[in-house]
Amino acid sequence: MSRLTIGGDAPIAVQSMAATPTANLEQTLEQVAILKSAGADLIRLAVDSRADLAALHHIRDATDATLCVDLQESYRLAADLAPLVDKLRYNPGHLHHHDPARPVPDKVAWLAEQAANHNCALRIGVNAGSFPPEYASRFADDHVAASVQCAMDHCELVERSGFTNFVVSLKDSDPRLVIKANERFAALRPDVPLHLGVTEAGLPPDGVIKTRIAFEQLMAQGIGDTLRVSLTVPFEQKGLEIEVGRQIIADIAAGRFRSVPKGFFDGLNIIACPSCSRVENNSFVSLAEEIKRTTTYAADENITIAVMGCRVNGPGETDSADLGLWCGPRLVTLKRGPRTIGAWPFDEVLPQLHTQLREILAQRTCPSAEQSGESVS
Ligand code: SF4
Repeated sequence: MSRLTIGGDAPIAVQSMAATPTANLEQTLEQVAILKSAGADLIRLAVDSRADLAALHHIRDATDATLCVDLQESYRLAADLAPLVDKLRYNPGHLHHHDPARPVPDKVAWLAEQAANHNCALRIGVNAGSFPPEYASRFADDHVAASVQCAMDHCELVERSGFTNFVVSLKDSDPRLVIKANERFAALRPDVPLHLGVTEAGLPPDGVIKTRIAFEQLMAQGIGDTLRVSLTVPFEQKGLEIEVGRQIIADIAAGRFRSVPKGFFDGLNIIACPSCSRVENNSFVSLAEEIKRTTTYAADENITIAVMGCRVNGPGETDSADLGLWCGPRLVTLKRGPRTIGAWPFDEVLPQLHTQLREILAQRTCPSAEQSGESVS
């Protein structure tokens, strides 16, 4: 098993995540090979089930890549996973779903113990789209305060067991909030290595630009020890995440900064997840591309459209968008804010989206315009 140093004087490590179902060995091995040949220092694989765990045994035997496993909701598999990988990533927002009676501090202590037993690192991966409920209610819409407090608390929980081999990430889909959260956390805990990323940055080139904005500001201050560029691209093109990450690092090192014009954040904002093993229909990426291509008539409007690849995180992570779409195996559910409008096949949902979008535009022009659509929630 290879070893990678993150933090201290080590070079910034560039990583990515497989966008294939982990249990699909053929596709996942191909994905690992694509990322490895693109120069990934670390490759993350999601594990949601025992079938994924079984696949991971084969993947571990087949590659010498440095591997991180994303525990998703399956924290209880950590004891079986830790011997196979170099790092375990857990999301504090996913720890309350299973064994709700077991206190979160116990779960974190147990995770740290599994990692320590196998000389594995941990990542505390805080994500603004999935805060633990107590932080979501305590901090309401203040994502930065919620992210930083959650990360600080989990550092303390991990450190209670004497475990120090961990990194933290504080991700958001808005690069400005990524900058603030990481600056604030780095000021409080300069000793903790940081994994940088703008989650759901979306399709290139916008996803690249959003990521660059955050990385330029942070890395120029010396903040960031590893990074991921999250792009919505088909799995065959995931090597792009590594190429872009290396290019941004090289540009910053050479003093080549790219500014964005005033008002860059105004107008239509399409956010889209980078996809992972949970995507059940690969039409998700082309749907996101079609949405971008056909919504240019709303380019000047301050509207956020969120496109998410799965039915696990999709419903929650579309709540705060003006219009949200999350994809199941056959149907795409369309939402307006937290309200569900309905679900349609992939090739029928676009006209429904446009109806809702045009209605929002009409209401902005004439606030008394009526809303259409039927809530099925
Ligand atoms: S929304 Fe679902 S498919 Fe997309 S990255 Fe998150 S877990 Fe994976």
